[in-house]
Amino acid sequence: MATNTSKYDAESNFPDFYTQRSMTESHLPLSLYKKLFHVQTPLGVTLDKCIQIGCEQPKPDEKLIGLVAGDEYCYDVFSELFDPVINEYHMGFGPEESHPAPDLDASKLTNGLLDAKYVKSCRVRTARNLSGVALPPCVCRAERRLVEQVFTSALNNLGGDLKGQYYPLTKLTKEQEESLRNDHFLFQKPISHILNNSGACRDWPTNRGIWHNDKKNFLAWLNEEDHCRIMAMEKGGDMKGVFERFARGLLEVEAMMKKEGHKFQWSPRLGYLSACPSNIGTGLRCSVHMRLENLGKREDLFKGICKSMHLDKRGTGGENTETVDFTYDISNEKRVKHTEVEFVQEVIDGVNKLIEIEKKLERGEEVAAPTQQQQTK
Ligand code: ADP
Ligand code: MG
Repeated sequence: MATNTSKYDAESNFPDFYTQRSMTESHLPLSLYKKLFHVQTPLGVTLDKCIQIGCEQPKPDEKLIGLVAGDEYCYDVFSELFDPVINEYHMGFGPEESHPAPDLDASKLTNGLLDAKYVKSCRVRTARNLSGVALPPCVCRAERRLVEQVFTSALNNLGGDLKGQYYPLTKLTKEQEESLRNDHFLFQKPISHILNNSGACRDWPTNRGIWHNDKKNFLAWLNEEDHCRIMAMEKGGDMKGVFERFARGLLEVEAMMKKEGHKFQWSPRLGYLSACPSNIGTGLRCSVHMRLENLGKREDLFKGICKSMHLDKRGTGGENTETVDFTYDISNEKRVKHTEVEFVQEVIDGVNKLIEIEKKLERGEEVAAPTQQQQTK
């Protein structure tokens, strides 16, 4: 497959990286770029498409991965770049290590009913992509239509409490769209750096949409950052119940797709594959919305405690949003090397610990900040 760079050498096309803040930049010397410059995956994805996002100027405090996969084959074909970036981002996931087999057995969870005085809602989501089809940064229109059709027909087969229907973005009114977003059911508009600069927003909003059951507690996003994001959520603190429904729906969708001859993108070493290397492995983000007024007023302490328990703290509207009324989105920081059940248990234990600390602060007791060592273990 010829590209417009065919007649140039790698040196003349090597990016002028903007900063020292992208992981891709630190793992892509000219020698490696030269080696991979003319290489293409079976779907025609080049290294340049994968690193484009790392060639844009990041926001001042952003540490970028700077790399996306244009298709599932990139992880192998460009492994000399993907492996070290994955190893750095996931803080130790070298080529000799493997992600474990999935474990979606909710019965193994303990203490899964969280205190609803603090925990306002629970959510578990994962990313799943259709094998043989390019990922959003490089997907073509025909492939996007295929993704929409394959996932919606599997989802439309769900019955009982999971029975639901698909709402394409193009058919929703502005009001309906806003209301779904305000209630945290729908993905944000693609203003974020990652989506835009990777090319994942081309043709927006065509073939994007949300599928949900009647109760809006089992949902799927189509053709956003991945082919499909599947999630369960509900108000209150029943994380075990949310994970049980998530696992049941996910397995049913997978079985229905299998029947039609489709499978998810998956690698024996890396687990499930995603457009962003940060979401490989389980692809799972288990989160609560919780109100922590006292911890919220102690920014450094809060940050250190989250870090020491491998928890990520986001704003009330999700990634890159502000916090409203001390309500935080707390989730597992990592996605690889542990099973789904283990990550959910980690969040449950971490949230219970945060509640304990918040109660201490309410009583006016002092709380020691975790040491630097505790924060990096
Ligand atoms: P994701 O990793 O799923 O893409 P984002 O940070 O982009 O997460 O957030 C997506 C949406 O999900 C946002 O509206 C966010 O507020 C919402 N959300 C995340 N966790 C929860 C939760 N526990 N309860 C309610 N809404 C949530
Ligand atoms: Mg998101």
